[in-house]
Amino acid sequence: MAHVQLKHVYKRFANGVVAVQDFDLQIEDGEFLVLVGPSGCGKTTTLRMIAGLASISEGELWIGDRLVNDVHPKDRDIAMVFQNYGLYPHLTAYDNMAFGLKLRKTPKAVIEEKVREAAQVLNIEHLLARKPKALSGGQRQRVALGRAIVREPQVFLMDEPLSNLDALLRAQLRTEIAKLHQRMQATVIYVTHDQTEAMTMGTRIVVMKEGVVQQVGTPQDVYNRPQNMFVASFIGAPAMNFLSGRLQVAGDEMFFQSASFQIAIPVQRQTRLREAGALNMPLILGIRPEDLIADQDIRETTDRALLPAAVERVELLGAEKHVHLRALGQSMIARVPARSEIEANSSVTLTLLNDRIHLFDALT
Ligand code: ADP
Ligand code: MG
Repeated sequence: MAHVQLKHVYKRFANGVVAVQDFDLQIEDGEFLVLVGPSGCGKTTTLRMIAGLASISEGELWIGDRLVNDVHPKDRDIAMVFQNYGLYPHLTAYDNMAFGLKLRKTPKAVIEEKVREAAQVLNIEHLLARKPKALSGGQRQRVALGRAIVREPQVFLMDEPLSNLDALLRAQLRTEIAKLHQRMQATVIYVTHDQTEAMTMGTRIVVMKEGVVQQVGTPQDVYNRPQNMFVASFIGAPAMNFLSGRLQVAGDEMFFQSASFQIAIPVQRQTRLREAGALNMPLILGIRPEDLIADQDIRETTDRALLPAAVERVELLGAEKHVHLRALGQSMIARVPARSEIEANSSVTLTLLNDRIHLFDALT
């Protein structure tokens, strides 16, 4: 296994599109790194540059101790798994898995042993004689994973491998890939547009937007301390609620001031705002749906604000309810336990606690 390092990597296409800008990251040996972001943000291009399927316009790519910018894909010691499986239709599952080893002139008995072992891990031993058209989507992707595993590459690259599967299978294979990673201690770089996959699989997540890395961190980091509004709204479902206002400074105290409420900014959050220096600067307050407490009978203090809200719709999702609200002339969502008795067409009071709020620069 190996670490992978991208040093200030850029991809500029001939048509002028800058698909990846200044990607600068060391991916540790054995890490499961997830690149996540909306369609078109540059995930596939980044992966293709690592694989050697796309050239690097500027910057350096290191795999282990080798600078590989000009190394042919087949000499990079990586294996790639694609959304569309990429299996040879005329070959059986066995021969698909064995293909790379045969090319490398691996002895037949060794191939047999490796394919059987991978098939066992992936639970496809009974399918080895079948051709891809006789396999379901989930089975095909298992074969594709098997083909990658038997090669024992330094690095696995996976581009949305679960996106063509239905929700149940996706959840199942998600767990299996994570377990496989634990078992093999392999370096994996995994691309997805699905924040649930990113949150559940990644040892670290890289959130991208328009070719630019927005934040790198553990799933907890990115969820609890999103660095900007894009990350805050992309990670977490339902998405974070946002309210606009301004920064008020009164002596030692700082407040988030909107047209209709004021809430003290906790001391530990103030440093960054003081550094930014601008009094009265526009700010966005963010609050996650699970932190928006509805129907609490408490008094307003400087640490909390109470907002009257109208309940427009309540969705029951088994263990929890999503409450669609209207407050301060905008839509908001709260997430409450299923046992909550909040009903549509009623009024509630929302409580914003200042230790749950996120603050963002309105200009980023
Ligand atoms: P993602 O995988 O995140 O959806 P891509 O890496 O496929 O995004 O694409 C990033 C950007 O680069 C998009 O704007 C896309 O249209 C553009 N792009 C991708 N491939 C090419 C290409 N071969 N030529 C020109 N532009 C491309
Ligand atoms: Mg893509």
